Amino acid sequence: MPGLSHALQTAVSPYRRPKLKIKEIKWTYVRTHGNPCHVRIYSDQGIYGQGECTDSAQGAGAIIDSFKRTLYGQDPLNVDALWERMRTMGIFAGAQSGQFVTALSGLEIALWDLTGKAVGLPVYQLLGGKMRDKIRVYCDSATESRTDPRAKETIQKIVDLGFTAVKIDIDNGLDPARFDRVNWTANNVEIEHMVDKAAFMREMLPKNVDLAVDMHGRYDVGTAKRVAKELEPFKLMWLEEPVPAENVDAMRDVRESTHTPICCGENVFLRHGFRPLLEKRAVDIIMPDIQKVGGLLEARKIADMAHAYYVPMAPHCVVSPIGTMASCHVCAAIPNFLVLEWHWIQNLALWKDFVKEGDIFEKGWIPVTDRPGIGLEMNEEAVRKVQMPNTPWFS
Ligand code: MG
Repeated sequence: MPGLSHALQTAVSPYRRPKLKIKEIKWTYVRTHGNPCHVRIYSDQGIYGQGECTDSAQGAGAIIDSFKRTLYGQDPLNVDALWERMRTMGIFAGAQSGQFVTALSGLEIALWDLTGKAVGLPVYQLLGGKMRDKIRVYCDSATESRTDPRAKETIQKIVDLGFTAVKIDIDNGLDPARFDRVNWTANNVEIEHMVDKAAFMREMLPKNVDLAVDMHGRYDVGTAKRVAKELEPFKLMWLEEPVPAENVDAMRDVRESTHTPICCGENVFLRHGFRPLLEKRAVDIIMPDIQKVGGLLEARKIADMAHAYYVPMAPHCVVSPIGTMASCHVCAAIPNFLVLEWHWIQNLALWKDFVKEGDIFEKGWIPVTDRPGIGLEMNEEAVRKVQMPNTPWFS
């Protein structure tokens, strides 16, 4: 607090508030999980903000370009006002969800990084201050089957890294037991295979490591109810999207049928998307993807809305250390944070190389940085090696 008080007195008093203008915006795609879009907003004072939007961002670059006319010359510190202006301008262009909100999220995150750097404060401070110093992270396991010869080694690696929670995928469109390649009613053998994955992981993981299970929103209500019921003995942290997320009543139907907690929301956008999920009591846990849900402040607003329903938030996250740390600032600032996703177990070398600060982990947790803005700088030499061919670069 003395730091905040000093910063307020010296940097953002009405007399000393930095006067910045947005001068330029650049972006690129990298090949990591999906092809996230990294965006930079440059000010006329030499500092820039770095943002990232997630793997649904095919086409985000073009949408970001379309915002340039609106943003150039504007004060980047008025983050929410600029966000609201872009959103309302896009109402007839898809600003309710999808690519539009994804691109908006990347820009919003870059604006927070820039604002934090301009006033010398970490983003969590601008979001209301922090409730916790380090963020609990779960590992997306990349293994879940007793027939995988690498399973034992991978699970041991996850435990050795210090993770306290793991997620597995149990849906399988290629299961040889399937009778139909289009219909998603699982038969007895398929359900047996799904339940066995949870059983195998529960056998392999220490008791104090939580397990979540993802069905990727593919199956019908009858299948979802059967699987949720059969998974009850494993006391899961959650069952993720057993049915597609867009039918809130169907999700509620599944939730009401089981003691297994239901989690949903990685493809839900803005507060408006989460409102019916909460109002209809369709979920136990929400999981907005902060790099596409609308950005950092929108994620905070969604968390606050969920908190009024006593629903915790476990953000979906598949992005680089830059986007992950941006998410950590939100996770630090909200009361109802549960756990944050991490999806790099098969790409550890790049994860550690991606930013100049190196590996941001500390035994399965991420300490929230106190450096201004998001607090990380891209290691351009390493990241250029995974740049998408024929995309622009920042320099
Ligand atoms: Mg998922």
